[in-house]
Amino acid sequence: MSNVLIVGAGGVSTVTIQKMAMLPKIFTNITLASRTLEKCKYIQNLVQNKFNIDINIFKLDADNVNDIVKIIKKVEPFLVLNLALPYQDLTIMDACLITNTHYIDTANYEPLNEAKFEYSWQWNYKEKFEKKGLMALLGSGFDPGVTNVYTAHAKKHLLDKIHSLDILDCNDGDHGHPFATNFNPEINIREITAESRHWENKRWERGPALTNKISFKFPEIGHKNMYLMYHEELESLIKNFPEIKRARFWMTFGDSYLKHIEVLQNVGLTSIKPISFDGKEIIPLQFLKAILPDPGSLGKRTKGKTCIGTIITGLKNNKERTFYTYNICDHEECYNEVGSQAISYTTGVPAMIGAMLIIQKKWFKPGVWNVEEFDPDPFMELLDQYGLTSKTIELDEKLDF
Ligand code: NDP
Repeated sequence: MSNVLIVGAGGVSTVTIQKMAMLPKIFTNITLASRTLEKCKYIQNLVQNKFNIDINIFKLDADNVNDIVKIIKKVEPFLVLNLALPYQDLTIMDACLITNTHYIDTANYEPLNEAKFEYSWQWNYKEKFEKKGLMALLGSGFDPGVTNVYTAHAKKHLLDKIHSLDILDCNDGDHGHPFATNFNPEINIREITAESRHWENKRWERGPALTNKISFKFPEIGHKNMYLMYHEELESLIKNFPEIKRARFWMTFGDSYLKHIEVLQNVGLTSIKPISFDGKEIIPLQFLKAILPDPGSLGKRTKGKTCIGTIITGLKNNKERTFYTYNICDHEECYNEVGSQAISYTTGVPAMIGAMLIIQKKWFKPGVWNVEEFDPDPFMELLDQYGLTSKTIELDEKLDF
């Protein structure tokens, strides 16, 4: 039915491609292009051995629009799925415009030399995509992605008006390393060390990173400390649901993880300012990434679960009600299915679902869109079907913190 080009051969891509290979009637041709051909070959062999499916591979530097255009012209895909890094969002969107190809990603654009991620750069492409009849779907991972769909689902089925939204991201996985990140270390550490920001009474409240701590009892996991952070889906959700008075994002971290981050920050290893080392210019955070465990290698050692979801309070028939919608994902079960830990799995599955909905034209509108701007029902159904079941419970009271 459709020909897709995936850019990036990392942890998330490994999951998405296997999930696509399980649906050969929908994803009839899969091509993978990435910076390191060896990593593409690894995924190519995996898919061949496991599913008896051939995928095409190319070496590609996706920072270069012309190089992307050349590959798109060779492959002629219906859509390009960016599973490389947020730095490549705009070059790939430019190449899609030149070649009349649809686009999807899982993280919003961030310039390499400035730790600042926001949607404005990609939203600015809206008219260009619209004029060409092309669609770009932004943030089709878990958070952003599924959390946005949960919010749209609450608005469609549970509440007439949303007042407050809390996104809670808990990873209780233990990989046995003293310190490692669950997805790309560079992107992860840039995000975690950024100042916290949440939406309160129509304005952003800012604070220092990782200081506002609350203990919360997560289903199937128990009490964990979670910290207030800024996360990109807050920006699109307050725009698309302007009735929201307060929107916050929380993520759990263990004390040892935070101690490591503090020390790495204190010695300057999380900096993105270039330094001169041994006659060469290096970026400390990129050097740190090179010596940390590859997130793709954590799958077989990680035990425990993730619990990511939304707690939403609002009015239904003029009565205040609070709903908690979440997914529990088990690291070992993910490893048994696709050889990856749950963070890659919970991102890789929604990326495949976003692609499927566009291909089947169940979600299709020219322009640049965030996932909450579409009907949440088909996405929620496919999540249940392809390994990420959601549960909604009603809470007796709204959150008291
Ligand atoms: P990885 O670092 O494992 O993989 C990234 C891949 O992109 C690597 O294969 C890398 O190549 C390739 N790449 C990097 N730069 C280029 C380039 N210039 N040209 C071509 N290929 C390039 O990352 P993850 O798989 O963990 O994450 C992938 C994306 O998913 C990221 O954008 C991340 O932010 C996002 N994400 C989203 C989540 C969500 O819930 N929405 C959650 C987790 C991740 P090389 O092998 O040479 O390094």
